[in-house]
Amino acid sequence: MTSDVISCRFCGSDQGDVVVDLGHQPSSELFPARTDPGPDPTFPVRLWLCQACGLAQLADHDDVPEEVVGLEPEALRVQRQESAGWLAESGLIPPGGAVAEYDSPHGGSWLPQLREAGLIGRVAGPGEAADLVVDGCFAMMHAADQQAALRERAARLRPGGRLVVQFHSLAAIVRLRQWNAIRLGHLAYYSTPAMVEMLARVGLSAVAARDFSLYGGTVTLVASRAGVSGNNSVDTLSRYEQVIGVGDAARVGELQSHVRPGADALADMLREARGRGEVVLGYGAASRAVPLLVLAGIGADLLPAVADASPAKHDLRMPGTDIPVISPDELTHRRPDTVLLFVPDLLAELRRSLPEIEDGDGQWIPALG
Ligand SMILES: [Zn+2]
Repeated sequence: MTSDVISCRFCGSDQGDVVVDLGHQPSSELFPARTDPGPDPTFPVRLWLCQACGLAQLADHDDVPEEVVGLEPEALRVQRQESAGWLAESGLIPPGGAVAEYDSPHGGSWLPQLREAGLIGRVAGPGEAADLVVDGCFAMMHAADQQAALRERAARLRPGGRLVVQFHSLAAIVRLRQWNAIRLGHLAYYSTPAMVEMLARVGLSAVAARDFSLYGGTVTLVASRAGVSGNNSVDTLSRYEQVIGVGDAARVGELQSHVRPGADALADMLREARGRGEVVLGYGAASRAVPLLVLAGIGADLLPAVADASPAKHDLRMPGTDIPVISPDELTHRRPDTVLLFVPDLLAELRRSLPEIEDGDGQWIPALG
């Protein structure tokens, strides 16, 4: 642990705690070529919880290479559709206004679903103020200066406008022990109470929030300029997340105790399967697979390949390991006994698109937990 002073990337306070330390990790977004022998550069990954504003964040910020070429899971589109439907039905968003969207390096857009829900009059021009400002595809979590990012979004709101933010809640990460959600490039990990506090500090108030099942808990939250009264959904969700312990360094810090056992259990399972002569392959060359494989010390001897639908990843390897990324076709050709799923939200989609796995008596199992 370094003795540097950490200051909050939202409120600037230096009062906080390192709650999880994943050591040094390779960039989880830059997949090296299969022919690149490494070693890949690594960077510290420490989660710090601000006592002043409640924002959980990476303590360190190296300029980590990101090159995101993934295909979006169907589950994300479905979640946006449900969110947009909720926004339209609840009357939270006046229809027909100008819409501005903040893009995430991961791609994806809310515009098709908002359009389908009748919520878009037109798309605002670059920098133009809008009636609806959307940070819906996890854009803001990549910003090093969280306050500047939120102020920028707030400043684009027309009088009476609404800001919609979507985030994978820290409550889900804590409750479901998703420690491998903590990764380089993702600098902020919001909870509903922290988001409410952050919004208040830039002159906005949260008027409604809803928890969706994506990633075990993804919140869509609507905010407007302070003074607009909301419904009690924000308070209800905030209380629920407080009970889970999102503001409590000791409770969030319990994640640390699951890191080593989770990584070791995966390595043990792969060793046992290899001993039985079974073929175990992975699916989902996603960023969250990286800290898990690296901490477990898993190489191609234990997990010979990870499949991914994105053709751009196919001649690459998993960062920090020698595990190649293969196509879904190659996965089914190898007739695995078990496919470890690194992105559990893909399960329903994969059972439909790759029936060969279960037809051949193979099974899908989550890589963690
Ligand atoms: Zn803070």
